[in-house]
Amino acid sequence: MASRDYYEILGVSRNATEQEIKKAYRTLARKYHPDVNKDDPNAEEKFKEISEAYRVLSDPELRARYDQLGHAAFEQATGQGGAQGGFDPFGGFGFDDLDDIFDMFFGGRGRRRSRHTGPQRGADLEYELDLSLEEAVFGTTVTIELPREETCRRCMGSGSEPGTDVITCPQCRGTGEVRQARQTPFGSFVNVTVCPRCRGEGRVVETPCSQCMGRGRERKVRRIDVRVPPGVDHGQRITLSGEGEAGLRGGPPGDLYIYVTVRPHELFHREGTTLYCEVPITFTQAAMGAEIEVPTLDGKKATLRIPEGTQTGTTFRMRGLGVPHLRGGGRGDQIVRVRVVTPTKLTPKQREALVQLAKAAGEDPPEVRNFFERVRDAFGGRNG
Ligand SMILES: [Zn+2]
Ligand SMILES: [Zn+2]
Repeated sequence: MASRDYYEILGVSRNATEQEIKKAYRTLARKYHPDVNKDDPNAEEKFKEISEAYRVLSDPELRARYDQLGHAAFEQATGQGGAQGGFDPFGGFGFDDLDDIFDMFFGGRGRRRSRHTGPQRGADLEYELDLSLEEAVFGTTVTIELPREETCRRCMGSGSEPGTDVITCPQCRGTGEVRQARQTPFGSFVNVTVCPRCRGEGRVVETPCSQCMGRGRERKVRRIDVRVPPGVDHGQRITLSGEGEAGLRGGPPGDLYIYVTVRPHELFHREGTTLYCEVPITFTQAAMGAEIEVPTLDGKKATLRIPEGTQTGTTFRMRGLGVPHLRGGGRGDQIVRVRVVTPTKLTPKQREALVQLAKAAGEDPPEVRNFFERVRDAFGGRNG
């Protein structure tokens, strides 16, 4: 590439404005465009030089770097890939047109072709996996059925019937591109489009594979074992690398994303690694204290000691009976909320016992009396 100073090439001063640089470039590009200088063998080289200088100086970032580091240090960053900088020296031409121009003059045809014919990664797939709370908490392996594109095993993805040849595309003669001359303000440009026959691949199969009809891939319903780690939660994602759709032209396959949904549970409610449940206890158990059995998600019963005088709604923490931590060992806790059940149908004997209880406690227990006094005070105060 050019070794002359970029400012010198464009014939502008080092403190030229963007406008001045643009103007100089337009003038020079028009003058040296190879399509209007067919007789001058140096025009193409000159045009390249001008375009490269403009590419750098029209980009404030590149220009600053150029000013700071100078030419030699800069050359590293130029070249083929640099033509993709997304700039628009002709102010109004589409990006593709520019690509075409640079492909023509910067030897970028390989790049252009690779865009259409290089290996292409397969698409990612998504799958929604519905789990019970137990499956999510303790982990499981689920076999799912997944329709996806797989590499055709008959042609190994080539699309060509085994034993037949892949031939050079007769329409584009293997370039993958179709070129047409086009008039522009700068003279005649060559418009490059992707070859419709081979879709840019430059090659076509002589006899398409009989199994995939030349597509190179075929739709299959694949059974896949999904290992669900213990502790996974609703809304989380499990990634199975390489289990998406097959790539094209030897490209890698996509990934499979498993989105976890967890069905609500009859007894347990989960928040993070904590499991919540509610357990009914009798009035007697609440009043006198008791050891009760509570369910756990493991299916085993655990013993919980209720102290005497427990009120309804009191919670108890049972350590290590919750959800395993997804990363690292240990489990969360189970929180048990007790609900005191008031008896609804009393036998005469039970009724008598409760009457005795009421008498023993005093007809008007202090807490109850205090409560009614507070209510009375509240209403009395409001009524004046
Ligand atoms: Zn095939
Ligand atoms: Zn073609």
